[in-house]
Formats: sequence, C-alpha cells, structure tokens
Amino acid sequence: MARVVIVSNRVSLPKRGAKAGGLAVALGEALERSGGLWFGWSGEVVDGAVPPPRTTTARGLTTVTVALNRQDYEEYYNGYSNSTLWPLFHYRLGLLEVSRRNTEGYLRVNASFAAALAPLLRPDDIVWVHDYHLIPLGEELRRRGVGNRIGFFLHTPFPVPELLVALPGHRRLVRALTAYDLVGFQTTGDVKAFLGYMVGEGGGEADAQGRVRAYGCRIRAAAFPVGIDTAAFAALAAAMADGPESRRLKASLRGRRLVLGVERLDYSKGLPQRFEAVERLLEAHPDLARQWEFMQIAAPSREDVARYRSLRRALEAAAGRINGRFAEFDWPPVRYINKGVDRATLAGFYRAACVGLVTPLRDGMNLVAKEYVAAQDPDDPGVLVLSRFAGAACELDAALVVNPYDADEVADALADALTMAREERIERWRAMMAVLEANTAATWRDSFLAALAEGYGPAARTNAASVSASVSSSERGIPLGAAGP
Ligand code: UDP
Repeated sequence: MARVVIVSNRVSLPKRGAKAGGLAVALGEALERSGGLWFGWSGEVVDGAVPPPRTTTARGLTTVTVALNRQDYEEYYNGYSNSTLWPLFHYRLGLLEVSRRNTEGYLRVNASFAAALAPLLRPDDIVWVHDYHLIPLGEELRRRGVGNRIGFFLHTPFPVPELLVALPGHRRLVRALTAYDLVGFQTTGDVKAFLGYMVGEGGGEADAQGRVRAYGCRIRAAAFPVGIDTAAFAALAAAMADGPESRRLKASLRGRRLVLGVERLDYSKGLPQRFEAVERLLEAHPDLARQWEFMQIAAPSREDVARYRSLRRALEAAAGRINGRFAEFDWPPVRYINKGVDRATLAGFYRAACVGLVTPLRDGMNLVAKEYVAAQDPDDPGVLVLSRFAGAACELDAALVVNPYDADEVADALADALTMAREERIERWRAMMAVLEANTAATWRDSFLAALAEGYGPAARTNAASVSASVSSSERGIPLGAAGP
C-alpha cells in the first residue's frame, strides 16, 4: 500500500474516540494504515527566524509542522487566504481585498511549504493537498521534481467563472490546479464551475467524466461530497442526550421547543439574515409565541480580520434588538452565545433541538447540517431547515430547503418545522439519514484516494522531468497579482 501524505494549512492531529471530528479521524485512519505523513502549519506565529520543521511520530503516523513568521501569517493566512480567496470563493465580491503583497506572501508560503515537504517524499507516496490556502502547492512540488500522484481537494465552493475573473491573476491561480492529477470539489455545481472556467477562460476541453485538457495539461475533476462519521456521531448524540449540559439546557427551556443554529462566526453563514428571519417569525406568527426559543451558538473565528469583528458587533446588536422588541419577563426568544461548544456537548444539544436552522449564504458543504440530522432521535426527530446554497442541500433535499436571503420564506419554513407532524418528520429524517449512512467521511476519503490512484493527470504521464518541464520557465515565479487580466 502506498504511503499517504496529507498536506493542509493546519495539521489536525487525530485523537482516538468519538470526540474527534469525523474528517480528522477519516484522514488519520488513512495515515495510520499506510504509515503516512501529515504536513502543515503548526498554528504558531513567531517573530524573527522560523524554527526548523517539527516532526512527531505516534501510532505509525508522522506529523511535520512548520511555524509561520508574522509577515507570512498576515499576508498568506489573514491576507490572501482569508481576505481574498475566502470571500471570493463564497461569492462575496464586495468583501474581496486585493493586494500584491498578500498575493506574494501566499505564493511565498506555498513555495516554502513545498521546499520543506519535497525532501520528505518517497517515490511511491500519494500526496493529498487540502483547501484554498494551498492551491499552488502542487505546482511548487512539481517544480522541485516531484512526479508523484498529487490530488487536491477544495473544501469551499468554487465560484462560477463570471465571479472568478474578478480576481487579479485568476488565470495564474487556476492554472496552478493543472499541476494536480485529480482536483476534487464538494458538489457537481463546483465541478461545473471549474470546467466552465477551464473551457471558457482556459480554452481547454472537458468531457462528461470531468477529464480536462487545458494549459497544456490534463487532469481530472470530480465531486466528492464530504461526509461525517454518521454512526459514531449518532451514538455520541444518544449518549450525550442525558449528559449534564443537555439536561440543564432542556430544564432551562421549560417545555419550549428549541430552534438551534451552530457555526463559526463567519459572514458566509448568513447570521444577520437568520436573525432577521427569526424576527419575521415573531412578527408573522404570534400564534407560536412562547412555544419556542432560538439559540445561536457562534464560535469566535478569525478575530484578527476586521470584517469578523464588525460581524460580531452586528449580531450582538441584532440579538439585543429582537429581545428588546419581543422578550417577556419569562421568555427571551433569542439566546446568543458567542463561545465555541465542544463536539460532544454539541451532539447532545442537536438532539435536544426540534429545529436545526442552517442558512449559510454560501457554504462548501456544511457539516453542522449533517451532524444535526445524525444526532436526532429516530422516533421523534427534529426538522432541518437548510439553505439551498449549502453544498449539503444537494444531498439533503428532504430538509426544508430555503433561500436564506428571503427572511419571509425562512420564517414560514420555521413555522412549518415547529408544527410539522411526527410522521412527516420521521419520513424526512429517514430519507436524509439514508444519504448520510451511504456517504460517510470514510467513503469520501476512500473514493478520493481510489480516483487519485486510478490516475489521469501529470503523474500518469511520463516522469517527474516531463512534469516539471510542462511548467514553462516564463511562468515561473510570476506573482498571481501580476499575471492575467
Ligand atoms: N463546531 C464545534 N463547536 C462549535 C461550532 C462548531 O465543534 O462551537 C464544529 C461542528 O460540529 C462542525 C464544524 O465545527 O463539525 C463546522 O463545520 P462546517 O462544515 O459546518 O463549517 P466550517 O466551520 O467548516 O465553515
């Protein structure tokens, strides 16, 4: 069995037991089975010289982590990754920040990751690169003569070409993806957007199987929707239903039904719009007043980025405004919690909630939606209200699927969810659970690795030399911000 090498911005050390995230566990298993390697940023930011990579080995799996210096952290991480690519890939052109400094920082960190990783690779390794932080990594590895199979998976959405072309240097960025053998996306819509770019902008050719020829390369693109460890999460939720936190939560509700939202505090999650929908529910459905409470868990995220701090203030104001308008002395309709909650406690909370409210404006997949479904009591499940713009909506079409921009529609869906008969709840839940059982984190991992092993792209061609040569010298070292329209 070939050794699997995973590269991601952060190394998420897989822990044993049900408390670890499904994705980290699924990837960790592949690494343990193959005696693999996980490479990425340690999360440390240092002033001055960056220390050498740190290697640790446990249970046959090795992690190699590198620190970032403050400039790299600002330009690569806060800058290009989270202030340029993140808003662009989530269809928020108005929030796009463009700067050549950040672009160069992004390329510099990708090049330095590749320089640190390349000497650690063995000829038969299968390399799997994750997410938008590391798009140019494959190309940088090829430049260093790496001829291995290299796959890339994008966890976020991929924007339609009409949006993507707003990015200075878009051509250079997308062309970097052709260094991979396989490029995986969350949904067929994302694959279509990518192929649309390769054909429309790149002048390439694509077939129905996602095989693409463009920029003198051939690669394969396909959808691999990320799943969760469904059975383990369901068992965790059942076990946590009687945990002390869930009992306290239920006691505090005093028989009222819980509408639950859970996310990182991120503008892609549609939280202001969601609060507006809750306000609309209060206005339009006074008949349901006092029968429910809405609890929003918003875990702090990326607080070094100004946009995230202003969102936090806006939500605090919205929660205060709604409670100011509608609260009674024994009924606050909104509970707003600006703190992260650990997965196990969360599993119990999902199960206690009659409605899971998941309304991102755009989301690659949205694992909260899947976890909410998996956590339900099969005899008395809650209802998922789900944005059509979450990748999860492609699979979970038995949810109440809504347009998160339409506060009236979301409010009506909430009213339907709160009054839905048990038979319909069970029927919808079973349909969604069947999907989640068929596509788990493990099946996602295995299908991606199997497709990568099949091969079609650069590594399937001849050897490292020809791959390296396919990146012409005129293309080397051009900053993304300086190439293309
Ligand atoms: N999560 C958590 N505690 C929190 C909020 C979220 O453990 O307070 C977890 C949640 O269970 C899920 C993940 O964080 O597994 C969020 O994944 P999702 O795909 O929904 O959104 P992302 O944050 O990746 O954009």
